Amino acid sequence: MTSIAFIGLGNMGGPMARNLLAAGHSLRIFDLSESALGDVAEAGGQIAASAPAACEGAEVVITMLPAGKHVRQVYTGDDGLLAALSPDTLCLDASTIDSETAREVGLAAAEMGIPFMDTPVSGGVAAAQAGTLAFMCGGTEEAFRRAQPVLADMGNPEKIFHAGPAGAGQVAKAANNMVLAIHMIGTCEALAMGANAGLDPGVLSEIMKASSGNNWSLQVYNPWPDVMEGSPASNDYQPGFMVDLMVKDLGLAMAVAKSSGIDNPLGRLALAQYEAHQADGHGTTDFSSILNRIRSS
Ligand code: NAD
Repeated sequence: MTSIAFIGLGNMGGPMARNLLAAGHSLRIFDLSESALGDVAEAGGQIAASAPAACEGAEVVITMLPAGKHVRQVYTGDDGLLAALSPDTLCLDASTIDSETAREVGLAAAEMGIPFMDTPVSGGVAAAQAGTLAFMCGGTEEAFRRAQPVLADMGNPEKIFHAGPAGAGQVAKAANNMVLAIHMIGTCEALAMGANAGLDPGVLSEIMKASSGNNWSLQVYNPWPDVMEGSPASNDYQPGFMVDLMVKDLGLAMAVAKSSGIDNPLGRLALAQYEAHQADGHGTTDFSSILNRIRSS
């Protein structure tokens, strides 16, 4: 059993924290929103009055926050965690944030002898609930070794990767979500084209799954309604993974592309498509609803 402080118990953090409790860890929890604490408190989490208070006596701190500014504030702001933690407390930030902030917070932590890893996730709310998340980690070998058993209680042990030094987890996440955005749009274009030319989208999906056009969007997230049971498309595009979050993640990918000096025309095109879809009022629908934009064009 590990003493864990968990900060940020929203759509993702809530079920992740519940899985840690189910695995037998002790949890002290904090969130700015009281309503986010309820379920986890009911499952045995002890509510703390502040983020530093949640960390008293913690061996591991996990944060699951909206964006880089929140992570920076929680760790290095006024009343920030780094000033309160004893050295050697392992900090794992599972939020999806810009790699620069992850590197800077990691460096600030290292200067105080505190191991910090960026550990963003792939899989969404359903995987957070099922405890099958993938983790992409940036930090030292030693921090990764210590992080693995805790991450395994929230994710699939086969899908916990050490991407490289601090910030590398966020770069991996940005790369993954950029290719996800691109192949989702490509899949939607192919299905819409086939359907307009008279094919059954379900039959076309089976053909492409068995051919070189196979990809994750076809295999587990088919964007055409009623082709795949349980997909967001078959549930009126309820998320799933919202368009707003895809726009956020593509913005992070653009920043990585810029800072690493690579041109990414397809990534930029995907961002423009998702921004236009968002501007049309679809920000809170699932990202596979981009199909409707293509079909109505
Ligand atoms: P969310 O908005 O549901 O939860 C974030 C929580 O952080 C909220 O409860 C909020 O009150 C809390 N919070 C904000 N600032 C705080 C502070 N200073 N101190 C304490 N608590 C604070 O967001 P989410 O969907 O759980 O996503 C969390 C992170 O995971 C994001 O970075 C997101 O991009 C990433 N992510 C989300 C998904 C998804 O499908 N939802 C999938 C993969 C990754």
